[in-house]
Amino acid sequence: MTNNTNILKNLFSNQVPIKLTNTISRQKETFIPINSNKVTIYCCGVTVYDLCHLGHARSYIVWDVLRRYLIWQGYEVTYVQNFTDIDDKIIERASKEDCSMEEVSNKNIVAFQEDMNKLNILPADKMPRATKCLDSIREMIEELVENDHAYAIDGNVYFDVKNYKNYGKLSGRNLDQQQLNAEGRITKDQTSNKKNVFDFALWKKSKKDEPSFSSPWGAGRPGWHIECSAMVKKELGETIDIHLGGGDLIFPHHENEIAQSEAVNNKELANYWLHNGMVNVGGKKMSKSLGNFTTIRSLLNSGVSPMTLRLFILQAHYRKPIDFTKEAIDAAASGWKKINEALNLGITYNFSKSSEPSFEPKNTEKDSKKFIYSEELIGLRTDFIFALNDDLNTSSGLAIIFQLAKSIRSLANKIEPNSIEKLTKCEKQQIKQQWALLEELTESIGFKAEKIERASQAFADEEKILSYINERKLAKENHDFQQADKIRDLLGTMGIELIDKPGGATDWIKK
Ligand SMILES: [Zn+2]
Repeated sequence: MTNNTNILKNLFSNQVPIKLTNTISRQKETFIPINSNKVTIYCCGVTVYDLCHLGHARSYIVWDVLRRYLIWQGYEVTYVQNFTDIDDKIIERASKEDCSMEEVSNKNIVAFQEDMNKLNILPADKMPRATKCLDSIREMIEELVENDHAYAIDGNVYFDVKNYKNYGKLSGRNLDQQQLNAEGRITKDQTSNKKNVFDFALWKKSKKDEPSFSSPWGAGRPGWHIECSAMVKKELGETIDIHLGGGDLIFPHHENEIAQSEAVNNKELANYWLHNGMVNVGGKKMSKSLGNFTTIRSLLNSGVSPMTLRLFILQAHYRKPIDFTKEAIDAAASGWKKINEALNLGITYNFSKSSEPSFEPKNTEKDSKKFIYSEELIGLRTDFIFALNDDLNTSSGLAIIFQLAKSIRSLANKIEPNSIEKLTKCEKQQIKQQWALLEELTESIGFKAEKIERASQAFADEEKILSYINERKLAKENHDFQQADKIRDLLGTMGIELIDKPGGATDWIKK
């Protein structure tokens, strides 16, 4: 690629808008925040009755990438994610474990935070719990009752679906189609005193011996959908920029959130609705009943590194389903090893930005972490931005990261242990710049170097040895026997003995 092309690409990189697929329009739309460079995001959180599984890992990793990427692109992001700590499953678990609902929730919130931290997922700016937002929830239900969008019967309050004309605008379902889908959360635990089978509970009367909270309609607890509507309004306002969640939440959860919020506020709840695809296991839907359910914890304990999991997830587009198989995880592990080795080289040889004067910050208004890169690297950086701006195409972005990692590893093969000085000035400059870009790009989507275990260190050594053997072979072919002997001696100092075999091949053993 010519320098001119790179300069042009760089000029245009700031003008190529971020595009995101909006579930509500089913189209890729240019992302324009409500308030200049400030972005408000709400992500549906977990029901804290158990440990998080791979489905959660996928969802929260892809939304962590969205958030980090927007921040890297200069946006000021406020990110809210809730904890559902009132739910039938939590009550059930508490009775099984002979403890309180709060104890079950607290224990699983701690476990959630530990898991997310291991996966390098940034903690949300605010993480409201349903039990701590009861005033806002009750207030919203009262407003819905007052404006005839909800009705109270015998201690329960229901949303009147037929009285809300836009019901179905996110999922594209109409009430007749819903007839076919009138199972699951929408009708579960409901009594027959609802006006319409599709009406959903905003407040549920508590059963005998169940934990309950007071309300104008009697003791009970809020429905699941209303907590998100109330929390969005309380923490972020009536209309937010982006609402996130798994594809399984489109209906009924997000459809119901829209109905509740918009019936109260007369404003759009969110301008962009983003949904991630599901995780399958060996081609089958992951579920507890099928016994193919994997928790984040058990996967990490089995030796899969957090960054391997992140790579596995980001190699697919966030909207598509992914298939979790041993082969796919092994492939991700070997891919991550390559990136991680390149990142570790920078740490080993101290390519840190602060100690290197050639990486002076550009001091652009958007990003003080930009560095002076060669034209070729500016081109790669721009390609990465183009990829991510196109509906978060992480797989294309990763191709650029792999390219950089490969180049760094190949340059580094020339480095003898602890003596970067052996590289020419130009090579030194090149490897430092490449490494700075690798670090910048990997950080922008949440990767961080992992400590290299002995096994992968051996792998790195082996690669270096093979490269020396190849260099020696070339020297011999060019009749530069002095250089060939030098390489043999050098490997000798590293504890490697060469065995020349008939036909020109060379084996090596550790002395
Ligand atoms: Zn929600």
